[in-house]
Amino acid sequence: MNIGILNIQGDVQEHFDMIKSLKRKYNVSPVKVNSVNDLENIDGLIIPGGESTVIYKFLIKNNLYDKIKSMALNNDLAVMGTCAGAIILSKDTGDDRVTGMGLLDITIKRNAYGRQVDSFIKEVQINGMGAFNAVFIRAPEIEVPGNVNILSELNNRAVFVTDKNLDIMALTFHPELTGDPRIHEYFISKIKK
Ligand code: GLN
Repeated sequence: MNIGILNIQGDVQEHFDMIKSLKRKYNVSPVKVNSVNDLENIDGLIIPGGESTVIYKFLIKNNLYDKIKSMALNNDLAVMGTCAGAIILSKDTGDDRVTGMGLLDITIKRNAYGRQVDSFIKEVQINGMGAFNAVFIRAPEIEVPGNVNILSELNNRAVFVTDKNLDIMALTFHPELTGDPRIHEYFISKIKK
């Protein structure tokens, strides 16, 4: 199985290394995705955290936006968006500069916890997984979770949601930064081959 990492900016290498570390155990390979052609042979895609306005512009410019959206809607692609990636997957970003793909029925607010200095690490409880050290960096907040499964909350706000098929996932934190592979393993387990 090939797992693409959207290679624009942000935490690309961290996700790449995490998938690489799981290669033997799950027979998965990481692939950096720069163009529409790179989407041909992948089964799952990670949209990393970074700056959502930059990621959005690049996705549009390289025709990746519509292609990723239609592959996901056709159930041809599982997608995990973390932080800025979660903003891209949302239905409503509340920001004219970033139009969400609407792959998840969530309204999200960018930079809801404040500036870079207001970033923090907090242990959250994830359904079926247990405690997880979650790193929040200029994180967005899921203001309105619609028709989604909520796997984790912090202060009564969803921080980890999936669609009903369980293969489109959004997290407002960074699972690639603590060396804990369980969320990547969960994503791998939901990819249908
Ligand atoms: N604040 C960023 C944005 O709105 C997201 C931050 C992150 O991905 N760590 O794009």
